[in-house]
Amino acid sequence: MTHIHFFSGEQIPVEMHKTKILQKLTLIPTQERLAAIAAAGYNTFLLQNAQVFLDMLTDSGTNAMSDQQLAAMMVADDSYAGSQTFTRLERVCRAIFEKEQFIPAHQGRACEHLLAQVLVKPGQLVPMNYHFTTTKAHIVRMGGIVVELPHAEALDPESTCPFKGNMDVGALRRLLEEEGPESVAFVRMEAGTNLIGGQPFSLANLEDVYAVCREFGVLLILDASLLADNLYFIKAREEACREMSIAQITKAIAKNTDVIYFSARKLGCARGGGICTSDGQLAASLKELLPLFEGFLTYGGMSVREMEALAVGLEETLDEDMISQGPQFIAYMVDELHKQGVPVVNPPGGLGCHLDAKRFLPHVPQNQYPAGALAAALYIVSGIRGMERGTLSEQRNPDGTEPLADMELLRLALPRRVFTLSQVKYAVDRITWLYENRDLVGGLQFVEEPATLRFFLGRLAPIGDWPMQLAQALEKNLSFSTL
Ligand SMILES: *Cc1c(COP(=O)(O)O)cnc(C)c1O
Repeated sequence: MTHIHFFSGEQIPVEMHKTKILQKLTLIPTQERLAAIAAAGYNTFLLQNAQVFLDMLTDSGTNAMSDQQLAAMMVADDSYAGSQTFTRLERVCRAIFEKEQFIPAHQGRACEHLLAQVLVKPGQLVPMNYHFTTTKAHIVRMGGIVVELPHAEALDPESTCPFKGNMDVGALRRLLEEEGPESVAFVRMEAGTNLIGGQPFSLANLEDVYAVCREFGVLLILDASLLADNLYFIKAREEACREMSIAQITKAIAKNTDVIYFSARKLGCARGGGICTSDGQLAASLKELLPLFEGFLTYGGMSVREMEALAVGLEETLDEDMISQGPQFIAYMVDELHKQGVPVVNPPGGLGCHLDAKRFLPHVPQNQYPAGALAAALYIVSGIRGMERGTLSEQRNPDGTEPLADMELLRLALPRRVFTLSQVKYAVDRITWLYENRDLVGGLQFVEEPATLRFFLGRLAPIGDWPMQLAQALEKNLSFSTL
């Protein structure tokens, strides 16, 4: 991936790959989209893919595979125990992360389940740069308490701080001094911090966090699901790493962690997950649980084909051309929207473009889920499916009260190597129209609210008949009359 400067002065990201397989898309008419989102309880998770034009819900399991990955799937060695495919994958993980043990799992949250089960005791604290939904649910399920120690500017969508994923190291030290290391189950750093807009940490920050963990004798666990983006940003933004290769940065990160786990639905563009560690005792405890929850030690719930694709995908993560398409397309999208005055999270992160629903819909209070309403509204006006990352994605407190999220974001994920620049331009165009007509968008309320991870299956209804009015305004707009 590279930037080509055009004669016009425009700077446009140009892919260093070409498309060999494609999938046809459809854009259903506005009135059908209106009916579809109503039938989905105004929850984009409940839309059918056939109703969606551009699926920007997530990058989980939706990244495009390379020809090398697809080819590798054909040579997979199918066996329950002792598969050569597993040996190959284990070898690749060892080479990249330099940890002795690789424990396979069916996806990222399965790693979190195993780690929480083994390491978290009731009442223990788990300090982290920021939480992720499934991570927090697994820690809380074991009686643990998540303590977020984000960078001072992490939650300010307008701050252009390049490493908003950094941990407040001073706060970590104070916590360990005051509470004592025995009250801490482990410290967790998340690469490409998902819920605050795909924001990276710096290598320097990770080194500082690890030094404190060493000093107090607590484990440092890295959630590497979004490591590819974080690697790109370290190389692009951290002065001290400019001359390092992606492989060297990866090794430097790995050296400053005790455990690395990842969702291979993101990292490695396949489906699965795994835990890497050189801590033999921890590995043995995890392996005891593996046959019970995941599968045998040589597949952990993954198919051999996915393991082959993952081995190649992880190696491709070390190729700068391969990992830069995502962040560079996202930067293009964020910059174009910013130019139009649309409130977005800056600086552009990994994973996707994040609209700031608090500033986009200031008239919708947080308990009416502005980011969820924005997701429904954007689907109606464009056929684009995004994901709410705000109060809807939070869980109620044990006493039934509803915590309001720090940020109300509509995440528009750009799965790696999937969308074209003209599709990104289409998204920018529709979001800009929606922003100009934002007064038409109202709030949502729950009709059916599940107790855990309610954002997945919850059903909502609009407060007032704003979806219909929005659809009518769109249809009246001449330039959109064909859609
Ligand atoms: C997606 C994700 C997970 C969970 O992975 P799954 O494969 O979806 O279970 C964990 N952590 C982070 C940072 C993620 O983005």
